[in-house]
Amino acid sequence: MPNPDHPYYLLSETCRQHQATLIAVSKTRSIAEIDNIYQMGQRIFAENRAQELLEKAPVMAKDIEWHLIGHLQTNKVRSIMPYVSCIQSLDRLNLWDKIQEEATRSGKKIKCLLQIKVAAEETKYGWSFEELNNILLSGKHHACPDVMICGVMGMASLTEDMAQVRNEMKSLKASFDLLKDHYFKNDPAFDTISMGMSGDYMVALEEGSTMIRIGSLLFPKEKD
Ligand SMILES: *Cc1c(COP(=O)(O)O)cnc(C)c1O
Repeated sequence: MPNPDHPYYLLSETCRQHQATLIAVSKTRSIAEIDNIYQMGQRIFAENRAQELLEKAPVMAKDIEWHLIGHLQTNKVRSIMPYVSCIQSLDRLNLWDKIQEEATRSGKKIKCLLQIKVAAEETKYGWSFEELNNILLSGKHHACPDVMICGVMGMASLTEDMAQVRNEMKSLKASFDLLKDHYFKNDPAFDTISMGMSGDYMVALEEGSTMIRIGSLLFPKEKD
């Protein structure tokens, strides 16, 4: 019997109320831990490393949708193609080209999100809005027709300062709105704002997130 107090139920209900999609971030979790959440009804899981996705996806239920949410090396794209349904961490041009090449090769389109850097921290991957604007102005999305650009993904700073987190999320939402208006107005597929993690998902939903990526909150530590 699943435990009705498991955080999964509150999270999925919160997402339903906000018409947002819940992504279960399963990095570092075992097959058994993932299966536990699967049994509760969750069908979309995300890994941040290609290697881990390749270890898990082939042995798990076939109706799971796998997303890749971490920095992806171009030489890993081919191997994950059969398993991944969305690459949320499209963060540079040579990766865009590689995904296009492998999508053509395998004869299927692949969904991607444009990773935008909104956090103050230096270490975060992703484009600035200005960089992305120039790339789209050059028509990159038309040059890569098998890469379906479905929206944006971003991470706020890891800080207790919720005002800063909220500002960064407002900035991501504003970037999405501008890109939608300028480059994807007639493209219904461009509809996703992936923002919000365990520590800031409520702020994210208030600021217009359509997809939250939850790891630690969904996989609570066992009590001893
Ligand atoms: C790990 C991770 C998450 C989930 O983080 P939690 O704080 O554990 O919910 C979300 N997004 C990305 C890109 C991650 O790497």
